Amino acid sequence: MDAGRTAARQFAGGEAVAGLRAEHGFSALVSVHSGNASSTLLFDTGASPDGLAVNAERLGIDVGGLQGVVLSHGHFDHAGGFDGLARLRGRSGLPLTVHPAVWTRRRVELPADQGLEMPTLSRGALEREGFEVFERRQPSLLAGGTLITGEVDPVTEFEHGMPQAHQAWDGNGWRHDPAVIDDQALVINVRGRGLVIITGCGHAGVVNIVRHAMRPAERSTRRLRGRLTEPSAVFTTNLTENLGAAGPHLDAHTTAALTNVSAPQHGATPTAASAPHRPCSSKPRPT
Ligand SMILES: [Zn+2]
Repeated sequence: MDAGRTAARQFAGGEAVAGLRAEHGFSALVSVHSGNASSTLLFDTGASPDGLAVNAERLGIDVGGLQGVVLSHGHFDHAGGFDGLARLRGRSGLPLTVHPAVWTRRRVELPADQGLEMPTLSRGALEREGFEVFERRQPSLLAGGTLITGEVDPVTEFEHGMPQAHQAWDGNGWRHDPAVIDDQALVINVRGRGLVIITGCGHAGVVNIVRHAMRPAERSTRRLRGRLTEPSAVFTTNLTENLGAAGPHLDAHTTAALTNVSAPQHGATPTAASAPHRPCSSKPRPT
């Protein structure tokens, strides 16, 4: 049976379209082509243990072609799909790049001094599944030219992070965790177009992320794609041409700052000197 089809005896031919699994969370398959080489990585893995794998199979995506996985941060709705990914790949030593704080225990505080603790990733369990874990706080340049921002510098005065109810375990107790310090994004410099930035929740603040991404590149930022939790919105926008698509979801400070950074500039491309880590391998681009 072809990918994307499922058995359905009510139809002539005995099959129908399987459709895709929809769930809260985020996962993106990112392919970058540069010269004769291409690289494909997974940015986040969705929420459920099997949602990513089910959709990959239904879309006919061969996860054996992945060169690595990057997590935007440790929240379960971005880090939940490793079980299915391991089922599809087996113990194949796939590189996994994360911020060192991705293993932080977190919870949402509820009334009456209760808390709903979120599932927390286990480095040991991932390594036993065959994932090769790289912890990096600094920017990393992957094969193919994809930059991982690493920890994002907070520079704006109006992006305050998560509310009081979001807490992290510091070894002695639960403390307000506004920053989600492991939050990071992908940056790709597209020839003739500018930077493409892919965020997860964007907990670090979308303007902080854009400014951080532009620092090594100092190029205009062309597109911003992701699932932005602050403010609550899911959108893809071309910053130069269509900020208005996201505008209703953004406050005035954010809109003004994004408009400012989208102005074309000239500068250097990201360099290995600014991002020394290259955990993923590249492969020749099929001809
Ligand atoms: Zn999150």
